[in-house]
Amino acid sequence: MKPTKNRFFCAECGRTKMVFETEKKAANFIKFNSAAIEEQTGYSPKRTYFCIACNGWHVTHLHDFFHVQSKTEEVLYLFYKEKEQKTLAKTERKLLRKKNSAKKYETKKLI
Ligand SMILES: [Zn+2]
Repeated sequence: MKPTKNRFFCAECGRTKMVFETEKKAANFIKFNSAAIEEQTGYSPKRTYFCIACNGWHVTHLHDFFHVQSKTEEVLYLFYKEKEQKTLAKTERKLLRKKNSAKKYETKKLI
């Protein structure tokens, strides 16, 4: 019998999918349900893969062609890039403030 409580919307692929906690559970699902699914739909899940958006395992009938950067990976990359730029800008402002306060101190010393 197909599990029904593990269906969630996957932001990565934009539709509802089954999510398994472990690879073994996903593989077991394939092992025990692929024949029945193939009978109903004409194709059956062939492999498991980890989804970083769901933080869980999905099953698919598609072959693993090659690794393409996922939407979630792209968003994470842009997030960390932005974070790095902000940190860099913050450090530059801090150095500038230090430099300016040192100048003020020297100016006061002269007066
Ligand atoms: Zn997912």
